[in-house]
Amino acid sequence: MTVKVGVIGATGAVGQRLVQLLAPHPEFEITALTASSSSAGKTYREAAKWRIDAPVPEDVGAMEVGETDPSAVPDDVALVFSSLPSDVGAAVEPDFCEAGYVVSSNSSNARRAEDVPLTVPEVNPDHLDLIEVQRDRRGWDGALVKNPNCSTITMVPPLAAVDDAAGLERVEVATLQAVSGAGYSGVSSMEIIDNAIPYIGKEEGKMETESRKLLGTFDGAEVDWHDMDVAASCNRIPTIDGHLENVWADTAEEFSPEDATEAMTDYPSLDLPSSPDQLIEVFEEPDRPQPRLDRTLGEGMTVSVGGVQDTTHGLQFNCLAHNTLRGAAGASVLNGELLLDTGYL
Ligand code: NAP
Repeated sequence: MTVKVGVIGATGAVGQRLVQLLAPHPEFEITALTASSSSAGKTYREAAKWRIDAPVPEDVGAMEVGETDPSAVPDDVALVFSSLPSDVGAAVEPDFCEAGYVVSSNSSNARRAEDVPLTVPEVNPDHLDLIEVQRDRRGWDGALVKNPNCSTITMVPPLAAVDDAAGLERVEVATLQAVSGAGYSGVSSMEIIDNAIPYIGKEEGKMETESRKLLGTFDGAEVDWHDMDVAASCNRIPTIDGHLENVWADTAEEFSPEDATEAMTDYPSLDLPSSPDQLIEVFEEPDRPQPRLDRTLGEGMTVSVGGVQDTTHGLQFNCLAHNTLRGAAGASVLNGELLLDTGYL
C-alpha cells in the first residue's frame, strides 16, 4: 500500500524534481499539488514550465494545481513535500503541521529552530526524534522536518566521515554553485553567461550554521551543535546543475589522505528506496569530480569527492553533489522515506 502525498510549491525548480522522483516512487503516491494563486486552477502541465530533460509524468500532468492552503489538500494525505520560497514556507508550513500533515521541507525557514529536525538521513537519522519535542511544544498532530541547504548537503557527508574518525576543528569551504540553485527566476542569463558571481545572498551563513547542527549530538531533548568553526565563501558559476566545493578540514587528530579516502568510501548508505548504493564516491583522478560528468552518479544521490590531500592542520578535498536531487528534492524524499521507515507516518 502506498502513502498519499502532496507537493506544495510543485511548479518550481525543486517542485518539478519532486514530481519527477515521486511519480514512479514505490512507497508514495502524489494526490495533491499546489503553487501560487497564478498557477491554481490550471493543470500541472499548463502551470509548470517543465525544464527537466524527461517528460512530465502523464498522470501528474493532468492533475489540477490547488492554492497553497491546507484546505486544498485532502485529509488522507499523510505527507506533504514543501518547495516554497522561504518567506511563503514560514507563513504556511506551520498551518499544514497544525492541520495534521507531516511536512518534509526544502525551504530555509526554521532550519535552525531548536525543535525542528534538520536531517540528512545517512548522517544524523537520530535527530528525527526531535519531532517528539516539537509536538510537545507546539501541540501539532503533524510535524515539520527540514533538509539542509544544497551547498551544505554537498560537503556534510564527507565531513561526517572525517569527523567520526579524526574530529573536526575548523572547516573552510569555497563553492562553485550551479544556476538551478537559485530557482528558475533566480539569475538572469545576462548576469551569468561568461561570468562568475562571488555572492549568493545568505548562503554563507547557512553553510556555517546548518553544518554544525547536522553534525551536532541529539540527547533526546535538544541538539548540541558541533563546536567546529566553519567559514564559507559562495560563488555562482554558469553550470546548470551540480555544486562543486573546495573544502579545507582541520582535524583534532592526524588523518592521512589514504585513511580519509577509506573512511569516506566506507561511510554507510541506508536501505531506503532513494539511498544510493555508494553514498560517497572518491575519485583518484586529480581533475574529478566535475559537474557535467559526475552530478548524476547514484541517480544524483551520490556525493563525489576528489583531490584528497594533506594540509598543515588536516585535509583538503573537493566535493560535488547534484543540487536539485541530493541537495533538494532527493533529500526531501529521503527524509520522507525515513519518516515512513521510523513510523512517523
Ligand atoms: P522556484 O523555482 O522559484 O519555485 C517556487 C515555487 O513556489 C513555485 O511552485 C511557485 O509557484 C511557488 N510559490 C511562489 N510564491 C508562492 C506563494 N506566494 N504562494 C504559494 N506558492 C508560491 O524555487 P526553487 O528553486 O524550486 O526553490 C524552492 C525552495 O527550495 C526555496 O525555499 C529554496 O531556497 C529551496 N532550495 C532550492 C534548491 C535548488 O537547488 N533550487 C536547493 C535547496 C533548497 P508558481 O509557479 O505558481 O509561481
